[in-house]
Amino acid sequence: MTRSHPTFHTERLQHLHYACRCALPLAALVSGAWIPFFVLIQNWHLVAIESTLFAFLTLSWQIGRHWNMSLGMLLAQMACLLFIFYFSIYFDVPSEEVPRVSHLYLLIIALAGYGNFQRDRSQLQLAIIFLSLAGFAVFSSTSLRFDFALPLPDSVRSITAWIHVSFLAALLCVGVILLQEGMTVDSKLRRELRSAIPRQQFELFFQPQVNRDGRLIGAEALIRWKHPKRGYIQPGHFIPTAERAGLMADLGNWVIENAVKTLADWTTHQSTRDLVMAVNISADHFLKHDFVSRLIDTLNAHQVSPSRLKLELTESVFVTEVDELIGKMKVLQHHGISIALDDFGTGYSSLSYLRRLPLQQLKIDRSFVRAIAEGSRGASLVTRISQMGQDLGLEMLAEGIENDEQFQFMLSCGCQSFQGYYFGRPVALETFEERIRGLINQADH
Ligand code: C2E
Ligand code: MG
Ligand code: MG
Repeated sequence: MTRSHPTFHTERLQHLHYACRCALPLAALVSGAWIPFFVLIQNWHLVAIESTLFAFLTLSWQIGRHWNMSLGMLLAQMACLLFIFYFSIYFDVPSEEVPRVSHLYLLIIALAGYGNFQRDRSQLQLAIIFLSLAGFAVFSSTSLRFDFALPLPDSVRSITAWIHVSFLAALLCVGVILLQEGMTVDSKLRRELRSAIPRQQFELFFQPQVNRDGRLIGAEALIRWKHPKRGYIQPGHFIPTAERAGLMADLGNWVIENAVKTLADWTTHQSTRDLVMAVNISADHFLKHDFVSRLIDTLNAHQVSPSRLKLELTESVFVTEVDELIGKMKVLQHHGISIALDDFGTGYSSLSYLRRLPLQQLKIDRSFVRAIAEGSRGASLVTRISQMGQDLGLEMLAEGIENDEQFQFMLSCGCQSFQGYYFGRPVALETFEERIRGLINQADH
């Protein structure tokens, strides 16, 4: 059984989450602190808009705290962005003596936006960053003045300019330190990942795949990182960083080498001789020019029949030129290696793509299997997906089967193969082999 540990990846996210958690109340506090000042100089127009901003920031803070941090951050940034544009145009009008300074806050908004984008990538967040930087560039390089403006007197602006600039310099330092800290966590993980392959810290776990009678027909190889201090780490916690660091091809080659060695070993035992092993291949790895030749060489070196290997690709491989992709898949098919499309339904594959790709299997993502329990809409969606796969002449495997109800339902949809905790969790090689032998012994008695 694997133990899940907080990892660098989650640590980095926690770190950014914490930074966002601090940024929201800080922004509300700063905005609130200006209200008494504007009351003092009796500028009721500014009191009104600063109070509105304060209310918005407090609301965003509460949304971020209790509901959704990204949404809270987005709302806060939008409110600040509007306020800064408004304030810079109407009140902070540059004169010969005192320059405009309020637009400098746009840099802080862009920096906060970048931090939030690292946690949760959205188009809206990108747009806010872009608008902040564009606004900063315009206000910095021109001394925009409009007739309708209501400029604050220079005597007031000269004092506030000092306050703004000192405060902004401090904020920029804090922001840069926070982002730097986040990057340090990420680069520590990259360093450790790079040395993990030569140090033999990876291990393959195996999860059974069964047919309609519940009989074992194969296994999916799933990578685990056996970290010397943190124990077993699940792939979801280190694969995103390995992808960013360009390590997926090295990691994938290690997986293939070890999977094929295990297959060679299985060939010598009657209980495992016919099992097909499914191996996950990342897009980066699959698209390497020598992927096919290396794979065939490895199979030949260990004298393993290509028909015992199944490659699981996700829709992320569709980034490449489709004809090139089809060509590569056909070569693999020609050698007898089958290909499955993993996590089917979660990506963007269009029907025309699916029709053209030489696939053997579609793996229905477990989120759809889970949706069966959610009522008739979930169930009819799963039925349609299975039907569509069958219409395309593909074998259907249902992932994430956790109970008999799901198994029966997917059977009724016509799926041929199944995988999930109901049949067995991913386990270390030794445990997997012991279980198979146990099953054979049970059958003999
Ligand atoms: P995947 O290929 O879709 O693998 C199935 C994942 O679902 C596995 O998570 C497995 O433990 C989990 N799972 C299986 N049955 C059930 C179930 O009944 N209920 C639930 N809740 N989960 C179930 P795991 O091992 O954490 O792997 C996660 C993902 O990491 C894999 O998703 C795959 O995309 C990737 N991955 C794993 N090993 C490798 C590898 O060697 N190379 C590459 N490129 N990716 C890998
Ligand atoms: Mg898979
Ligand atoms: Mg999957």
